[in-house]
Order: sequence, then structure tokens, then C-alpha cells
Amino acid sequence: MPAPSPPRAWAEIDLDALRHNLAIAREISGCRVMAVVKAGAYGHGLEEIARTLAGEEIAFFGVANVGEARRIADAGVTTRLYLLGATWEAERAEVVARRWTPCLSSLEEARHFSELATADGTRLKCHLAVDTGMGRGGFVPDVLPGILPQLEALGGIEIEGIGSHLPSADEDETFTRDQFERFAEIVGQLGGRERFEWIHLSNSAGLLGYDNSPCNLVRPGLMLYGISPLPGHQDRLRNVMSLKSRVTLIRELPAGHGVSYGRTFVTRRPTTVATIGIGYGDGYPRSLSDKGTEVVVGGKRLPVIGRVTMDQIMVDATDAGIAVGDEVELFGTNLRVDELAAKAGTIAWEILTGITPRVTRVHHPLITDH
Ligand SMILES: *Cc1c(COP(=O)(O)O)cnc(C)c1O
Repeated sequence: MPAPSPPRAWAEIDLDALRHNLAIAREISGCRVMAVVKAGAYGHGLEEIARTLAGEEIAFFGVANVGEARRIADAGVTTRLYLLGATWEAERAEVVARRWTPCLSSLEEARHFSELATADGTRLKCHLAVDTGMGRGGFVPDVLPGILPQLEALGGIEIEGIGSHLPSADEDETFTRDQFERFAEIVGQLGGRERFEWIHLSNSAGLLGYDNSPCNLVRPGLMLYGISPLPGHQDRLRNVMSLKSRVTLIRELPAGHGVSYGRTFVTRRPTTVATIGIGYGDGYPRSLSDKGTEVVVGGKRLPVIGRVTMDQIMVDATDAGIAVGDEVELFGTNLRVDELAAKAGTIAWEILTGITPRVTRVHHPLITDH
């Protein structure tokens, strides 16, 4: 076997920063934490992040679906797993058998879970999902007083928690304040803290920007990975992922020479062009082309010129004093991913979850088992 070639692009994941951000989430909210690790822990490595946080007294891991729950459970993590999205019928037997926690949006799925749990000789703990404005899942508030007794009559399930979701906590403060009030009112009408062991509403923005006293559980995702969705809180968080690559070539081009597909960039002067081993095939978005995007090399910011290609990008390295093999930061500690996302016309969540499997994830410090 030939020696493996070193990766062209990799992502360094700082697990101490992750733990720091978790501590901040707890401190600010005063709540227990459901760590949201859907989509491969926002691209940070599902098993690695779950194993790291499993030793940190997390109440639940929030996952998108059964496939993700399975991966975490199979990695030996015993923290409770909460399914943020709906389940297919065919998946429910496994949910019951492995005691994962679904959120309920319909009476039919509740009945099905109840039947399966009864057959399995257990009562499955479930949460009641309430739609207070997201429009994606849950029961609308009006039906709840009628629905809860029907759910409680099902012998195979136990409604131990109630949750809702915030659609605009980072965009609309008035709506969100009102949503907090309405949620607290609904929970109160249904029996409040005495009735529900878990009451939860907030994502990162709700956690950072609002009073979470109606709740005892929060569901942060993005902030755990070091990015604040609200201005004014970034300073308290530490960056977790740094996307890196290396300079693969350095060339001198004369004035008037096109760079990359479509020749959208043409040199105006003799230009030192550094080629870097990353592209949209790694999840560095093509929509960053011709947007004044920068990368960081040796502490200097250098502009990306011409279009992002599948495996390579070019930067203007004139007088930058850099060399082949130099490390390049595409985003991370020195250039935040939300700055990049704004340039690409998208959000940090999409950039992070879009980093492809070709990018090697390197976790520091090394993960030890608990
Ligand atoms: C993804 C998700 C979260 C986490 O959201 P962030 O904005 O990343 O903190 C919380 N709750 C639900 C229901 C989600 O789907």
C-alpha cells in the first residue's frame, strides 16, 4: 500500500472550546441542556461530538432522525436521545426498543408508539410538541386541552415533556417575546412544572436573547459550535471549527491574464497567484466567487480571485511572502464562518453542515472515553 496522501483540506475541531460554549449556555439560561447534534453535529463529527459531550451531564442529545440516533447509540453513548423530527412508521419499533424520545405531533403516531411500547412491556417517555409559530410540527395550541387527556389515556406512553420552537428569535424580538409568553401560558394551562418534567422552547438565539425562566431545558445548536446568531454575544463564545487547507502552487501572472472559469477576474498588474487545495467539492461555497472573500495565510488576509472551482481556489498573494505548503484558514478563529456566510448569501448553519466528507475532521484534544 502506498502511504496515504496528506489531506488537501481539513477541519480542526477544538473540543475545549465546545465545552466552554456549553458552560456558557448553562450559565446564561440557568437550564439543563439538550445539545443539538443533528447533521453530523453541524459538520463537526457526530460520534466525536456526542462522545465528548456525553461526559458533561447533558440531559439529551437532539438529533434529526433515527439514523443519527442509531449512530450515537452505536458509538456507546448512553445519554438520552431526542428526535427533533417526525418518525416514519417503520422506524418506531426501534425508537421504542432503544428508548429514544420522540416529540409527538399527531394522535396517530402517539397511538402507534403506545401500541409498540405496550407490546415491548414498557411506557415510552415522549414529549408533546406545540406549534406556537414555526409551522413545521407539533399540535396547534387550540387542540391541546382536548388532546392531552387522550394522550394521557394511552397506556404505552408517558408525556414527560413539552416543547415548542422559535422561528424568528434572531430576527423578530416582538414576535419572540410574545411567543415566550404564549408558550408559558399554554404550559401553565396544561399543568405547568408539576405536570411536565421538561419544558423547552429555546434554540441558541432564544437562549442568548431572552429570559428562559418559563423553561428548564434549552436546545442550543449553533452557539455550542461557537457562533452567536445574535449580535452582542459573540465575545463570550469560542470558535470550534477551523476549516484549513494549504497553498499548492505559487505562480506569477502578467497583467491582463484571466483567473479561473469564466474569466470573471483579469489581473490588472503582474500578480502573484497562490492556488489553494480546497473548493466547492469540500463545501467551500461556489457562491463566494467574486464577492471579495478573503482567506487567512500567516496572519494576513488575502483576497480570493476568480471563481471557486471544485477542488481549488486562487488568491492574490502579491507581496504576501507566502510559500507552497503554507497553511490557509478559510474560516475559523481569525475569520468567522458567519462573515463568510454573509458573503455567500447564506447562514453559518448551512456552511458548517455543507462541509463535505472529503474534508478530514481532526479533533483536539484527542477524545478519551468516559
Ligand atoms: C436545529 C434546532 C435547534 C438548534 O438551533 P440553533 O439555532 O442551531 O441553536 C433547536 N431546536 C430545534 C427544534 C431545532 O430543529
